[in-house]
Amino acid sequence: MQKLPFISIVIPAFNEAASIKQTISELVKLLLPHSRLEILLIDDGSTDATTKTALQLTEEFNCLKYIRLSRNFGKEAALTAGLHRAKGDAVIILDADGQHPPEILLTFIRLWQEGYEVVYGVQEQRHESRMTKLAKKIYYRLMKRFASIDIPSNAGDFRLLDRKAVNSLNLLTESSRYMKGLYAWVGYRSIAVPYVARKRHSGNTHFNFFKLFKLGLIGLTGFSVLPLRLVSF
Ligand code: UDP
Ligand code: MG
Repeated sequence: MQKLPFISIVIPAFNEAASIKQTISELVKLLLPHSRLEILLIDDGSTDATTKTALQLTEEFNCLKYIRLSRNFGKEAALTAGLHRAKGDAVIILDADGQHPPEILLTFIRLWQEGYEVVYGVQEQRHESRMTKLAKKIYYRLMKRFASIDIPSNAGDFRLLDRKAVNSLNLLTESSRYMKGLYAWVGYRSIAVPYVARKRHSGNTHFNFFKLFKLGLIGLTGFSVLPLRLVSF
């Protein structure tokens, strides 16, 4: 009999009490028959009932581990904590709010088993305001033109990383992190998989325009000399 692969799933969650039960149940139902599963719920300092709900879920699902950060550090830090704790041969990163369609994970896992070390989701048909769409388009153009590495457009944290890529990411000690840049920076054999994001199970995005702008700036200053050149000019 073929040995089941050991898969970790890292889920960052900030005030997602209303979503996590559905997200985790769907994952367990889908993946338990195909893998040895570990799910790490990283509570990024939630102030709602996320803790209570998550602790109840740990009683229901043996594969669930709950890790709580001491305050809200932001998604990049929550992911970093999860990647350090994950033990799987492959680590999947997925949002807590249900927007990342779990069925696609079977394709992620198949491509990994075929030899790809990074399988990343590329979001199609975004339901965003015109202003956000335009800002993102300009940002990705700037990054394509000026960043020192090729960071794929419209690809986020929804991805599978082979153990080798996770170990490499875990060696990086930046405190101001732009994960999309770091994934690209560590390299490895990668492939894109298009997906359409679902609606949130509940609530609204935590990333308003200002937060996205701040994160974008970390990316631009971290992976391009353009801002320095502009200042000296
Ligand atoms: N998140 C987090 N810390 C934060 C903000 C968000 O861990 O400070 C989590 C959030 O709970 C969700 C994921 O990151 O699981 C993506 O956040 P969100 O859905 O708000 O962003 P969007 O889907 O708009 O990119
Ligand atoms: Mg979301």
